[in-house]
Parts: sequence; structure tokens; C-alpha cells
Amino acid sequence: MSTLYACISLVSALQVESVELVLRFSVATFDCIIFAAIFAHIINKQRQALVHLANTDELTGALNRKQLKTKLELSVYEYQQQQIPASLLLIDIDFFKMVNDNFGHIMGDQLLNKFSQHIQKKIRKDDLLFRFGGEEFLILLPNTQFESAAIVAEDLRRSIEEQHFLDQHTQVTCSIGVADLRQADTLDTWLKTCDNLLYTAKNAGRNCVVARA
Ligand code: GH3
Ligand code: MG
Ligand code: MG
Repeated sequence: MSTLYACISLVSALQVESVELVLRFSVATFDCIIFAAIFAHIINKQRQALVHLANTDELTGALNRKQLKTKLELSVYEYQQQQIPASLLLIDIDFFKMVNDNFGHIMGDQLLNKFSQHIQKKIRKDDLLFRFGGEEFLILLPNTQFESAAIVAEDLRRSIEEQHFLDQHTQVTCSIGVADLRQADTLDTWLKTCDNLLYTAKNAGRNCVVARA
């Protein structure tokens, strides 16, 4: 738009000023337009980077707790208003403290990063992965009924068991609680249900999925 405006102005200027003066003025004008465009592009990139930093966990690249509240509240609202289903998977790495103890904290951090990347690759584009706490992750599956969510969880659990995140001899496993959204649920009860199911999975011996019946 500014380029069009500049062109019209310069053509008009030819009526009253010499060609040489208008040409010099044109060069200066288009330099300004190009620099402004480059500057706007850089600012936009920096804004995107800042938004990314504010919304994600630095170590794992997963979404952070602030985002978790916003996205889950939206899911609860959509369910209550339009019965759009959603499910949650709460995932906790088994015996993670032993990873830190045996391999060191840096390897522990690397495992968290690889674990998160692995999940990101496995889930759909619309599914959202959050870092819930230390070695706990939460996945929001929008538009997903209970049965499908349980299948996704079991598939994920098995794929993690088959990975060699640390070395060829060490197996990393996780336990998963799965809860779909129900009519009486609030954000807190939905999360609490998931947490209880995860706790049940831990008590059942770990490396398993427990879903709300
Ligand atoms: P469980 O199978 O019952 O889940 O046992 P666990 O060892 O995984 O669980 P526990 O809660 O006993 O230990 C979790 C450990 O995770 C303790 C804490 O030091 C470690 N941790 C939490 N956040 C981080 C982190 O960002 N990096 C690393 N390396 N360790 C972390
Ligand atoms: Mg834990
Ligand atoms: Mg754990």
C-alpha cells in the first residue's frame, strides 16, 4: 500500500520537478520502504520468539502450566456448551529419580527432552503436550472420546518402552492415567481424576495405563 502511494506521489511530482530530482527522491523513498519492511519482519520474528518463550518449558519444549490452564478451561467450556469431547493423559516417567542417581542430572535433563520430543512426534497436530511438573507430562486430546484416548495412551506407553533413550541396556517406562471429560467435571476435578488414575497405575506396578471406567 505504501509502495503504491509512493509511486502515485512520485509520478505526480514529475509534473512540477525535474526528472533527476524525482529520481533521487524515488531512490531514497524506496530505500525507506525496503528498510521498514525488513524492520517489520525482524520485529515480527522477535515477537513470535517471545510468545514461544512465554508459553513453553525451556528444557522440554512442551507447553507450560500457564498454557495448560488456558487450554483446559477452553476444553471444559466447549464440552459444557457444545458437548465437544476431550480427554487427558497424565504421564509420569517411572523411577526417574534412579535415572538422576545412576546417570547424573544432565542425562536426566536430556531424557526429559528426548521423552518430550518422542511424544511430540507421536501425537496429532491438534493434540497439546504440556510439562505438568518435574517428570510428569500432560496431553490434551481434543475431540477425543474415552476409547480412542485409552488406545492412544497404550500405544504411547508401548512406544516409550521400546525406545532406548539412555543406552541399549536401560529401559525407560512410564505410567499413564487417562480421563475423558464428563458433564460434572470442572478443570480441577478432571485433573484430579487423571492424577488418581496415574496413582493407581503406579500402585499397579508401573509401566501401565489406567483409564477412567
Ligand atoms: P515413580 O516411579 O514413583 O514416579 O518414581 P520417580 O523416581 O520417578 O519419582 P520421584 O517423585 O520419587 O522422583 C522424581 C525425580 O525427578 C525427583 C526430582 O529430583 C527429579 N526431577 C524433577 N525435575 C527434574 C528436572 O528438571 N531435571 C532432572 N534431571 N530431574 C528432575
Ligand atoms: Mg512424578
Ligand atoms: Mg516418576
